[in-house]
Amino acid sequence: MSREKVIIKRVERYDTTAIQDFVYKAIKTLDIEPKPRAFIKPNLVQATRYAEHAYTHPELLRAIFRALRESGAADRVLFEDCGLMVPMRYAYRKSGYARLCHEEWIRFLNLAEAVHDGTIKVQYGQIHEELPIPFIFAQDGIRVFVPKLKIHAQTDISGAVKLLIGLIKRSVRLHGHHYDLDRKIVDVLAAYPPDLVIIDGITLGRNGAGCPDPYPLGILIASRNAVAADALATHLVGFDPAKITHLRLAAERGLGPCDLKEIEIISEEKIEPLPLGAFNEPDINSLSPYIRYFEGQVHDGKRCLGGCIGFVAEAIYSINHYRAWRSQEKVNPSARFLFRLLDQEPHQERPRPLGVVVGDYKGDIPEELRANLIFVGDCARANGLKPRTHLKGCPVFMARIGFQSARNARLLNPYLDVMEGLPYHPCLYRRTIYARVEQGFPSFDEKELRRIG
Ligand code: SF4
Repeated sequence: MSREKVIIKRVERYDTTAIQDFVYKAIKTLDIEPKPRAFIKPNLVQATRYAEHAYTHPELLRAIFRALRESGAADRVLFEDCGLMVPMRYAYRKSGYARLCHEEWIRFLNLAEAVHDGTIKVQYGQIHEELPIPFIFAQDGIRVFVPKLKIHAQTDISGAVKLLIGLIKRSVRLHGHHYDLDRKIVDVLAAYPPDLVIIDGITLGRNGAGCPDPYPLGILIASRNAVAADALATHLVGFDPAKITHLRLAAERGLGPCDLKEIEIISEEKIEPLPLGAFNEPDINSLSPYIRYFEGQVHDGKRCLGGCIGFVAEAIYSINHYRAWRSQEKVNPSARFLFRLLDQEPHQERPRPLGVVVGDYKGDIPEELRANLIFVGDCARANGLKPRTHLKGCPVFMARIGFQSARNARLLNPYLDVMEGLPYHPCLYRRTIYARVEQGFPSFDEKELRRIG
């Protein structure tokens, strides 16, 4: 049986020419059938001034757009729907993608606003039997996945296999996003597998997927198969691919190999993996001196890593990253005035110990935390104690946990950042950003979709 090919190359910087050369050669080596259209899915989870490593680098996308054009795909469609409650149009502009699409003549399909007028069946789907998608995806084209490689609190690693969570319509995106997240990820991959994967591992994101800290990994990976590409990436950053649940499940469903013996690695140089355990997720209690975390039983003893547990870790990472950023940042006088009005200047912080409870916690909670408890999720309980705030939902999304935790612990709140918050405040967002993006850059709307269809 032929082994799945994965190409790997050391690339230290986002140099468009070098990356374009790599992608063009990868298309030839992997024997990607040329088509006149390409659908490109980046990883744009959010974009703010303090989260510049949270998304696929625009220069990498530029190189891919050019390589695809060279190989015959004149019509290139970038599509995405970001997470974390940031308006997609805002993330599109702040990430530099709007400018890039304008310069490279790329059409942008904003999935947050597109009409999902088609469906795809999920073969042997366990969480989703079918997924609503915009009709245009039914058309022929090369599917290109361009994930940003990150260490992830919910799945250990986030690469090409997890990338497609962004394809799911917002109304059903959180369905099964709990202890079943790994099966959900595999369902989506089964429904929409890629033709080409290029993993952005030039800088690895770690310490939270929402506002990651960069780590100079310096690699690019290409493959036709998402599971094989992720398995190699996972191995290189010090994990055992067989222990990454979504990769193992994907391999069991025949979506690709996660055993390195079944992968043909093509590389001009020897690339040593990082030591095993280099980026293992730390204990949530070690993440913040102000937030104590109490985890109880959830659903038949399963750990709800893909739900509230992972979201609590992500929320704490975001708060930490934001506080570190703001403590060094110089802001203009009017923004400083607004920050001060909201008690959001670093010197105004008066931290207060906070307890966060997930699941049915049976242990003791220290006396000093009982007056300042947040219960996260419908199933959260703690020996009959009454919380100060109970965030309901299954799961509770990370932004709600982040906002409430920062508020109750009196820490600087990333969700009260006037420099980011004001531009995407719903009124301003509609009148200014919408208008600017619409005027300058091509994007799909309902009429255009019908015309294409
Ligand atoms: S509410 Fe409970 S079961 Fe639901 S995601 Fe949260 S921890 Fe998991």
